[in-house]
Amino acid sequence: MEQKRNHQRTAKRRRRQQIRRRFLLMFIISLFMAFLILFVGDALGSLTKENNADSIYAFSAEESQDMEIGNEDDVPDIALADNNEERSLQDTVKNLNLSVEELKEKAQEIYQNNKELLLLVNKDHEFDLSAQPKLRNICYGRLEAADICYKDLSTMLSDASDEGYTYWIASAYRSRERQQELIEEDVKENRNKGMSKDQALEEVFKESMPAGYSEHETGLAFDILASSNMNMDATQETTEENKWMQENCSNYGFVLRYPKEKEDLTKISYEPWHFRYVGIEAAQFLTEYDLTLEEFYELLDLE
Ligand code: ZN
Repeated sequence: MEQKRNHQRTAKRRRRQQIRRRFLLMFIISLFMAFLILFVGDALGSLTKENNADSIYAFSAEESQDMEIGNEDDVPDIALADNNEERSLQDTVKNLNLSVEELKEKAQEIYQNNKELLLLVNKDHEFDLSAQPKLRNICYGRLEAADICYKDLSTMLSDASDEGYTYWIASAYRSRERQQELIEEDVKENRNKGMSKDQALEEVFKESMPAGYSEHETGLAFDILASSNMNMDATQETTEENKWMQENCSNYGFVLRYPKEKEDLTKISYEPWHFRYVGIEAAQFLTEYDLTLEEFYELLDLE
């Protein structure tokens, strides 16, 4: 009897021990799970966040490239261009100490030294594909550009970086086929909205240059956005990065191709992000005399 009771007590003790052990095990597992959720989850979360940031960045860049067709090759208003047809070089140079003749001589000299860099591509001047400069990869193969401007472009971006300014090149060389594709995509989109073929085309060419007339085909044009502002719009000029670029680009052979006050001449609205390589000699000349490439060609009597 006594033995049986002892045996029962031992059995009860064992069961209690077993229960205690199970609780302990569950407690440890819970602690471990909590640890997993708190630390590993957090780490995973931040990884995901980084990935998101990456994809947002990539998307913005791609988006800007697409947007570019709309803004970039914007032909503001034909009326605007016609109004000022007579705004001649005389007006532009009237405050200079040089005569128009002297300026013409200088321009001619610079042109002869830098012909291949001074290609004029605009609404009235189709890009001659046989004049295509040799291309090379830039931005780790993401984009292509004319090899001839690579060194100055790199130096400019590196000097800017030393001053604390960084950029995102949204677009550089664009092939004629790509331009055509983008136009066709836009036409298709308009057709889907119910426009006739003619309407759709008309609408697209209000904002885009036809294939063959975009300066990006030369590989000498770059859309350079401030890394603090990925919007391809007028807000670019409010950034310190863009101010630096506008002020210093001519020292590296670049000009702001579509300035604010010259929309009537370029026939393209102000684009604070679009920089064109013309070589240092020409860039400094154009900047010093405040001339667009269109005015430069007028000086050459090549228009
Ligand atoms: Zn551009």
